[in-house]
Amino acid sequence: NKIRLQKIEKIKLVGEMAAAVAHEIRNPLTVVKGFTQLFRNDENLTDKQKSSLELMDSELVRAEKIISDYLTLARSESKQQEPIDVREILANTVKVIEPYAVLNDVIIANQLDRSYYIYGNRSDVGQVFLNMIKNGIEAIEGKGHVTIGAREMGQNVEIDIRDSGRGMNEDEISRLGTPFYTTKDQGTGLGTMVCFKMIDDLKGKFDVKSNVGKGTTITITLPLMKKGDHDLTNR
Ligand code: ADP
Ligand code: MG
Repeated sequence: NKIRLQKIEKIKLVGEMAAAVAHEIRNPLTVVKGFTQLFRNDENLTDKQKSSLELMDSELVRAEKIISDYLTLARSESKQQEPIDVREILANTVKVIEPYAVLNDVIIANQLDRSYYIYGNRSDVGQVFLNMIKNGIEAIEGKGHVTIGAREMGQNVEIDIRDSGRGMNEDEISRLGTPFYTTKDQGTGLGTMVCFKMIDDLKGKFDVKSNVGKGTTITITLPLMKKGDHDLTNR
């Protein structure tokens, strides 16, 4: 038990350090990015120089993406908690991701027709839905759809995010959420890991059902808000 506690302390420390380092690295990255963009406007560049600058730029974007994912992961305590309507958050998230879906020939069908109140951090919850819907879109080759539904189950709300994408086999499912596990050229392999952490913070559950070649259904179970939840805050 003592070893377990020491381990948790260690993970916390590593998390704090990662956050501090990520924060410090972001500034020089921004400076370098500014210069690559400046140089790209130079008309005397050769094609080779141009493509090198483009590569530098896309790698910088990638580094920034990794840092963003880590920063959200590290911050966990002292996050503001408030009552959230799942329907409202999902509607917002769909609005944000819609252009990306259109670009990828994917139709998003949001089937929520009532409110479900949960208690947690607004931006975390939005981030979880965004990551999951984005994965659904990215799993689809050609035309397809992502369908979002929800239902009340006892003290919980179950939210389904179903896609008509390529699906995953058992091995792929078991690797889901492992840091840096990605099958995408532009992936970070951090999205699902961050979601697992956030869902855990919300005292929720994550479930995945998938059929290779047919699609995937992600089910996120979150505790519905109880009467006392609001008063328990120290605001
Ligand atoms: P990333 O999206 O950056 O690759 P994630 O942690 O979000 O990182 O996902 C890890 C991997 O899990 C993806 O690269 C993909 O192979 C697989 N995956 C996640 N969601 C789905 C899905 N809905 N359908 C098929 N594969 C998925
Ligand atoms: Mg992802």
